[in-house]
Amino acid sequence: MELCDLTIHELREKLETNEVTAEEVLDSFLRRIEAVEEKVRAYVTITADEARERVSGELKGSLAGIPLAVKDNISTEGIRTTSSSKMLENYIPPYNATVVEKLDEAGAVILGKTNMDEFAMGGTTGFSAFHETRNPWKLEHVPGGSSGGSAAAVAAGEAAAALGSDTGGSIRQPAAFCGLVGLKPTYGTVSRYGLLAYAGSLDQIGPITRDIEDAALLLNVISGHDSRDSSSVRQEQTDYTAFLQEDLSGMRIALPKEYYELDYNPEVKESVLAAVKKMEAEGAIVEEVSLPSIEYSVAIYYILATGEASSSLARYDGVRYGYRSKEAANVTEMFKNTRSEAFGEEVKRRILFGTHVLSAGSYEEYYVKAQKIRTLLIKEFEEIFKNYDLIVTPTTPETAFKAGSITAPLESYKMDAFTVPVNLAGIPAITLPCGFSSANLPIGIQLMGPRFGEGKIIQAAYSLEKLLQLENKRPELEVR
Ligand code: GLN
Repeated sequence: MELCDLTIHELREKLETNEVTAEEVLDSFLRRIEAVEEKVRAYVTITADEARERVSGELKGSLAGIPLAVKDNISTEGIRTTSSSKMLENYIPPYNATVVEKLDEAGAVILGKTNMDEFAMGGTTGFSAFHETRNPWKLEHVPGGSSGGSAAAVAAGEAAAALGSDTGGSIRQPAAFCGLVGLKPTYGTVSRYGLLAYAGSLDQIGPITRDIEDAALLLNVISGHDSRDSSSVRQEQTDYTAFLQEDLSGMRIALPKEYYELDYNPEVKESVLAAVKKMEAEGAIVEEVSLPSIEYSVAIYYILATGEASSSLARYDGVRYGYRSKEAANVTEMFKNTRSEAFGEEVKRRILFGTHVLSAGSYEEYYVKAQKIRTLLIKEFEEIFKNYDLIVTPTTPETAFKAGSITAPLESYKMDAFTVPVNLAGIPAITLPCGFSSANLPIGIQLMGPRFGEGKIIQAAYSLEKLLQLENKRPELEVR
């Protein structure tokens, strides 16, 4: 165990008692980056010099001296922010996202910006315009995505924790694939100011960490009302660490039968159900429920998300910032060539699809219908949460797959079936590891809660983490 393998709270303890200095902590992470980054390729930009400069001063706050990574669709003043797109390859934001300001105020040290699927569209990080990121557990496998760089960095000890963004699972799926904790907060809990939009009604920033305690610590720092984000919710500041309690007695858990009836990796299903049994043995009350509209969630997610994306990506036209084509005789051609040259294949596919579902003639048939089903789904979740504290499901139907093994768009979209309903309903969900497959790849269990129910899911996840004791069962990372 080196310093770079510790959790935030373990590092904070060592820093507070002066057992180690912030310089020593940073050095450990930079050495690990030096050793493994060539194989993992978690980062788009590494800010080692800025980090060194920062630890040379006095740092104060709940994250003082903690080296963190930030997904490359979150704006960092003076530091290139690309969204892993050729469109923004040389874009340097003139301001910080609110979450970055908050990390800064809390004393965190930013190590760099992490690789992702271009504009957060994808689930492998293979759609980055720059390079692929690989899973530190098994290098020929994907780390998941779109926040795959953030998850790979944390799993490999290249950051103590990271921020990701989640529109349909992009925090939870890579966290699950890399054996980590990933939390998608309630819509409106964490400011989106400075987050490069994919689909504004679904996007939410959240933490990817090594354990539940770290997730609570980071959520404490990044949550809160922000007048610069119109969807930010006014609520009292919650101390999420107050929910780090081992207590499952009387906790009411719902298992939606639609999630368990499907045909998917039986190792994943068994591992999740075994974890649920352990929770039951500790006093949780487990019952089967039904969420009939869940069946449509992948379809409506891809209609709504691409519709919104076609609109939010319209700003990349070569005029104000970002890439501009050099080959153009007039302005219309400049728009066309800029967008043709600088967007990747998946982004183009989604812009086309999104433009189609919003066009006259299709709008009523697709977009409006999808909105109606979204409302139904929200109501179904609300009904369940009248009687239950949590909904428990697998995070993903499969464990991390081999890079290049899933290429058909529809096949990969279906892999999002367990995560997208959470974004559609605007509710919070957390993933934590619940076991390993026979191939020694991590399996994630997902706990969903009602809107603003972060406290309950943190308590349940913390209790489950203590019950499972997986830290003793971790396979050796292939990259070390
Ligand atoms: N995999 C999903 C998609 O491609 C989710 C992405 C995300 O959450 N950003 O849209």
